[in-house]
Amino acid sequence: MEDLITCKFGGTSLANACQVDKVRSIVESDERRRYVVVSAPGKDGTDDEKVTDHLFNIATGGKHFKDQHKDIPPHDSFSRVSGKFKKLVTDLGIEGSDILKDLEADLRRDMPQEKRVDFIASRGEHYNAKVITRYLQSKGFNASLRLPEDIGIVVSEDFSDARVLPESYARLKELRDADGIAVIPGYYGTTRSGDVAVFSRGGSDLTGGEVAYSIDSALYENWTDTDGVYQVDPRLVPGAEVIPRLTYKEIRLLSSKGFDIFHFNAMINCKKRKIPIHIRNTNNPDSDGTLIVSERVPEETAVGIARLDDVAYIYVEKDGLAEVIGATKDVLDILKEYSVHTYHYPTDKDDLAILVDQNDLMGKADVLREEIDKALCPDVLDMIYNISVISPVGIGMKENPGILAQAATALKNENINIEIVDQGPAQISFHFGMQRYYADDALSALYRELIARD
Ligand code: ASP
Repeated sequence: MEDLITCKFGGTSLANACQVDKVRSIVESDERRRYVVVSAPGKDGTDDEKVTDHLFNIATGGKHFKDQHKDIPPHDSFSRVSGKFKKLVTDLGIEGSDILKDLEADLRRDMPQEKRVDFIASRGEHYNAKVITRYLQSKGFNASLRLPEDIGIVVSEDFSDARVLPESYARLKELRDADGIAVIPGYYGTTRSGDVAVFSRGGSDLTGGEVAYSIDSALYENWTDTDGVYQVDPRLVPGAEVIPRLTYKEIRLLSSKGFDIFHFNAMINCKKRKIPIHIRNTNNPDSDGTLIVSERVPEETAVGIARLDDVAYIYVEKDGLAEVIGATKDVLDILKEYSVHTYHYPTDKDDLAILVDQNDLMGKADVLREEIDKALCPDVLDMIYNISVISPVGIGMKENPGILAQAATALKNENINIEIVDQGPAQISFHFGMQRYYADDALSALYRELIARD
């Protein structure tokens, strides 16, 4: 069977006509690129906000930006969205008055509020796909628009966090027989009753992953605005390089810890079919990018180091705590009830720490204290804030004794106190929790010791 490539282009890759033309040239340069999934236009020099954010702002009567302490009224968002599409159509030199008219009519459409939010939020992808299809056609491509509602992306009724339902796959597979290039808007599908529902934010990656899986793509290319996945955040550690190859497992460990590259649920199905995911830069298509594969032979120990800020931990101390069956579960149940996300839970004979997302504690600290007091009657109950967790990751670490010692020594040499230590059971990651003010130095020291020296 012919090798087919699914490529997904993110918002910055499609932010204006100049970017769209780069996409055209990428699609043109390899005839296997037959499935083109597109995001809504992202930020560029002319606007600090993404089209999708403006759409949420329109749909929520201005609440979306107000919650972020930004003063952008919904009618401003309306003009910016329609202005952005108008400019795109003009700059691309295509006839698009029908597209602009339909867009404005959709943005004014009256429907029940819970459905309207998702419908409006999806319009960025919907109309961008229309514009891009027309542009490719104007350049002589055999391209056609394939809307999720037509190709059978059927999703659950979880508005703003919809999931693709299994019946979608057989329908999507039919895309294999389609001629030419299919342009597919990302980020949304339709429910069994025909309503539009969007995925969680960044969800065009999910559409790309589901299309790649359904048609059994040889490759899923994820085109973005960086050269790939870096060993550590290059803004914090100059000299950090792009990682050429990573396993699905490694990228998951890196993404879940602050590597904000792409929606890692997009990998779940690709992993089942071992479809490699190639992260590439639309603005620098000659760079090698990062290839995510199911297996690789490691040539290094740690391949990357993730960092997560805004962590707090709840510390509970009581004599014999470890002998109380279910003590950890009791605390976790309380955190679940109050929607507090948790990360790690190191325990000992008489004490227990649960690392949580600090932002989730806002306004809940007192009631959590009361509940934990009631459940466990602890001798000490503390909440410690402003923790950073630094996590070296790499499948090569498992076979190499002494990495933890090496890492701890590097921190000792910088006089950095490690407050929390936790090694992942697969032995391909470990985590150091420390006060936030140590984190920059810790990251640099660990990078020098575990990666730059390799
Ligand atoms: N446009 C949507 C967002 O901004 C989805 C995406 O770009 O992946 O979240």
